[in-house]
Amino acid sequence: MKIDDEVLKKIKSAKTAFALTGAGSSAPSGIPTFRGSNGFWTDKTPFDVEEFNKNPQKVWEWHCEIREMIKKKAPNPSHFALANMQTVFRNFVVVTQNIDNLHQKAGSNRVIELHGNIYRNKCNDCGKIFGEINSKKIPECDKCGGLIRPDVVWFGEPLPYDALIKARAYAESSELCFVVGTSGVVQPAASIPLISKEKGAFVIEINREKTVLSEYVDYSIFGDAAVILPELYERLL
Ligand code: NAD
Ligand code: ZN
Repeated sequence: MKIDDEVLKKIKSAKTAFALTGAGSSAPSGIPTFRGSNGFWTDKTPFDVEEFNKNPQKVWEWHCEIREMIKKKAPNPSHFALANMQTVFRNFVVVTQNIDNLHQKAGSNRVIELHGNIYRNKCNDCGKIFGEINSKKIPECDKCGGLIRPDVVWFGEPLPYDALIKARAYAESSELCFVVGTSGVVQPAASIPLISKEKGAFVIEINREKTVLSEYVDYSIFGDAAVILPELYERLL
């Protein structure tokens, strides 16, 4: 990995840092990215409220399928490197758009989930939270009888308030921001690195290719996050 000495110095001098991660950080684990070419997500698109209201059973089954696919995947070196960053930076936080729980599995203790978690469910009517439910038939809430749905953010839905507020606070107060494997087109997550930049943080992007964020960040490292991040971590020791 090629990295300017000046940039390495900047990273080393920072005391506080966080990472915003996207589907690209889980891609090396074998979980397809959203806009990737293999079409895992694009040939099945029933994940919005309208579709759920029309056909809740179909949407439930679709998410069960995704959850079972994700369950077979393990964290990759990019997840472990980000967990290791906790030993380098005070209160290192991972703000993720992923729903796969892999940062937690790799040992990250402070993970803010902007788009929810595929293993968690909630009542569509009263909001009661449930853990993983293994049922082919869409379950009903024991409190109000409403339908239970996965606790993930669908297109057009607002992000969980607490997660967004916390993520913003880290973005505003951190000296360093890593943007890992995200296309930067899903809002409001994509604006988080820009908030950091406005507040004076040094923003570094790690992605296989140029993104819409590339022209705003301070530095881009192009390549596989599962290779770049472990190398970067080693250079910080
Ligand atoms: P995206 O699919 O729009 O973009 C993925 C980005 O990762 C691209 O910029 C791509 O160039 C980059 N990338 C791919 N492989 C990489 C690698 N090995 N190393 C570095 N970069 C790599 O994903 P997004 O921006 O996260 O938005 C899609 C939304 O869909 C997410 O916010 C999430 O809610 C959902 N989603 C979640 C998962 C998951 O939980 N693992 C997977 C797919 C989609
Ligand atoms: Zn309920």
